[in-house]
Amino acid sequence: MTLEKIFQKHDNNEELLREDLYSLLTLRKEDEIRALIDKAYEVKLKHVGKKVFFRGLIEMSNICNKDCFYCGIRKSNKTVERYTMKEEEILAGAKFAFENNYGSMVLQSGERSDEMFISFVEDIITKIKTLSEGKLGITLSLGEQSLETYKRWFNAGAHRYLLRIETSNQTLYGKLHPADHNFQKRKNCLVLLKQAGFQVGTGVMIRLPFQTYDDLVNDIIFFKEMDIDMIGMGPYLLSNNTPLANEPKENYPIDEDVYQLAIKMIAVTRIYLKDVNIAATTALQAIKAFGREMGLKAGANIIMPNVTDTLYRPSYQLYDNKPCLDENADDCVNCLESRILNIDEEIGYGEWGDSIHFRNKIQ
Ligand code: SAM
Repeated sequence: MTLEKIFQKHDNNEELLREDLYSLLTLRKEDEIRALIDKAYEVKLKHVGKKVFFRGLIEMSNICNKDCFYCGIRKSNKTVERYTMKEEEILAGAKFAFENNYGSMVLQSGERSDEMFISFVEDIITKIKTLSEGKLGITLSLGEQSLETYKRWFNAGAHRYLLRIETSNQTLYGKLHPADHNFQKRKNCLVLLKQAGFQVGTGVMIRLPFQTYDDLVNDIIFFKEMDIDMIGMGPYLLSNNTPLANEPKENYPIDEDVYQLAIKMIAVTRIYLKDVNIAATTALQAIKAFGREMGLKAGANIIMPNVTDTLYRPSYQLYDNKPCLDENADDCVNCLESRILNIDEEIGYGEWGDSIHFRNKIQ
């Protein structure tokens, strides 16, 4: 089917089929990719508007019990200096986000599920709520936990949670993780998060070894089937201290520039899901200086400026060449603001910027 026909189908409110998504995702001609991006931007304006919302990101600890084959802070990577930020340092980051009118923040860390960690996080959430008079929205990205833990953190005041499925292909998931990492368990956590009351975010890495275009199309369908509210996806980038970095070129079935593919994934996801929040991730910026801005032009509406103390950033390298390692949070705010205004987008200062998809569901 031609591009125009697929767009027409979309405009007539007909559900796009798997083969339509495949056609869009595999576009290679420059003018067609341009048309795809323009269409996604049109859909974004119609369903979520042109406001970009900030989530100040605090990478609170790199201690991780998981051993994902792609991740720079995996348990077995002995070259990493491990840290957990002190409570006052985390609160200082939250205060910075609040005082700079970010509206929301994200607490992210390696995965731990011991009681000490759970109650530490619970306490921090309560204190962030107090210091911001309940005004700062809190998103968590703290991995797989029990329903009880999710409820404790929700009741303490966090209201959004990001847990990437990494890939919706269970066999591929098995190749990216040790045998004791369980795809079904991770998928079920998305259900538990919803039960606990969270707005639920998930996402995938793009252009992984062994991953095909069909996998990526299925990822987008997975987002819909799981009724996901927020998407955070980005390119898979090598971390040299990990087993996956050794995969030879021939094990990458997708022969396309990962930046272009990531932008197309954002655009197709926006066109298909319409009213969800979509993040333009740091990994996009890692491979192209204006990657996040292009992400916004292709349908994303969320940016997560890093407000972690620069002291800790070199130890939270999920992949090589992560950007903004030596910038303090102030630099990031100023450069971000002008970059966003330059592309004629607006910033939702002081707003939570919740997922409209979630809001539409509960009304
Ligand atoms: N522990 C939490 C979890 O598992 O959801 C949050 C932290 S984890 C490091 C955050 C995300 O980093 C993962 O979901 C994964 O998609 C991403 N990530 C890890 N290694 C990466 C890599 N080499 N390239 C791109 N993204 C990566």
